[in-house]
Amino acid sequence: MGVERIRPFRPRIPAFLAYALHALLAENAFYRRLAAYVERRPVLYRWFTAGERVTKERLFGCRMCGQCALPTTGYACPMTCPKQLRNGPCGGVSPDGSCEVDRTQQCVWVTAWTRAKDAGRDADLDLLQRPVDNRQWTRSSWINYWQGRDEGLAVAYDDDDPHPALAGRR
Ligand code: SF4
Repeated sequence: MGVERIRPFRPRIPAFLAYALHALLAENAFYRRLAAYVERRPVLYRWFTAGERVTKERLFGCRMCGQCALPTTGYACPMTCPKQLRNGPCGGVSPDGSCEVDRTQQCVWVTAWTRAKDAGRDADLDLLQRPVDNRQWTRSSWINYWQGRDEGLAVAYDDDDPHPALAGRR
């Protein structure tokens, strides 16, 4: 069995559109009930997850880690970093912004920074992302989010800091 080659992915939609879509899908009572309904039905859950996979794979190169960091990374998926770094670039990013592992591609974190900054969301990159829970791979990150399981996925350095990106998550 071959080893999956992970390559930095450039999102296919502009950041402002992704933020707007997120606002439409923001956690609320309706989505919570929908998520619980879908999760109780394995066949429906499989279809729902397949739809999420197709959509996010095409738009963001999503690898279905199940714990989506996109809203805090300018909608550049950190799991498409060949080193899967969720808290910024490694020391190997080149001066021209290319990835150390694949010089033909821009570092995911350069992409994230550029997109977040253009959208006025660069402060999001100050947040600390917790390590991935490997049990969530292939699970639906939308369901996890609506079910409130992303609580603490990204945290501010200072617990008392009411970081704008965390609004609605606490
Ligand atoms: S669910 Fe995980 S792999 Fe998919 S886009 Fe979000 S962070 Fe990337």
